[in-house]
Amino acid sequence: MTEFEPFYSHAAKVYSLPGFVPQKIDGEYLHRLGVAVEPSAATLDGLEKGSEVFARRYAARTLIPLTQFEVTDAAVDTIVPEIHNYTGRCPALTYEINPVRGCGVGCQYCLVTDGVHEQRLVAIDNYHLYVRALLERFNGPGSDNANHYYYFSPKTEAFQEATLLTGIAHRVLQEFIGHFERFPQSRARLFVASKAGAKHLEYRWNGVSVLDLFSQLRGRMQFNTSVSIMPDAFRDILEPYAAPLPERLAAVRLCREAGVQSDSALVQPIVIPYLTDEHIREFFTSLHGAGIINYKPEFLIRPMRTTSSSAAARRRTGR
Ligand code: SF4
Repeated sequence: MTEFEPFYSHAAKVYSLPGFVPQKIDGEYLHRLGVAVEPSAATLDGLEKGSEVFARRYAARTLIPLTQFEVTDAAVDTIVPEIHNYTGRCPALTYEINPVRGCGVGCQYCLVTDGVHEQRLVAIDNYHLYVRALLERFNGPGSDNANHYYYFSPKTEAFQEATLLTGIAHRVLQEFIGHFERFPQSRARLFVASKAGAKHLEYRWNGVSVLDLFSQLRGRMQFNTSVSIMPDAFRDILEPYAAPLPERLAAVRLCREAGVQSDSALVQPIVIPYLTDEHIREFFTSLHGAGIINYKPEFLIRPMRTTSSSAAARRRTGR
């Protein structure tokens, strides 16, 4: 097990918030809040069970990930290529790249894990060999070489400690570079969605930074940041090990300076009460300042009954 110092972390932790104690959300609680509608019995049951799960995990200190990971090798020839198909109706042309089981960022709203982060973080050291085979199979010589996207990463953070300190992220990018060198007519494209900050992209493994590798992939990749609209203090709690917003925008600027397409953002989650005119203007002005012109918004949703075993949740993306 490798212990690490997170690249970014916030002083405020959910366990040390002054005055914070888990609440039981039941009919009486909603009434005190002034909720005028009468929830169904099933809704109340879900909220109460969710409150119990949260309180249990708060007491056991399992709400946010541990700062450690395990490294393993996988039998890469047995990994079944996973098509990224968010709705079941999307074109089946995008393949997922998920070199870590679990995610060290620990977002409490994560749709991949339903916000459950007590699982062990497992980084697959030889994952790049799977990426090599995937690229060859679908975009290599002899393939139909269709317009495939390779999504790095829908079910974990591509540039987190577990992928950076091990060089897994660097090796995955090197596979793309090697693939394009061997097969320049490849129509593969790398799609990155990430909460990475500047420190992540500047991290060097064997003397080479992520940004160095990005710049070799310019014209073949896009880097999309993922940013949330909420008060900073709230973000610090909900995204315990993510880069602060200015650092994510700095990462976007670095990509653009390296010639990498980086003008789109996944804007999620959006906390609706925070959406005042002033906050909207401030938020989008800062994104615009980083050169972002396209936005994909998503609202904050959480299952009432948090569970890590929901197959539906695992099919989704956390981004
Ligand atoms: S939302 Fe993304 S970055 Fe956050 S825990 Fe889930 S997979 Fe990781």
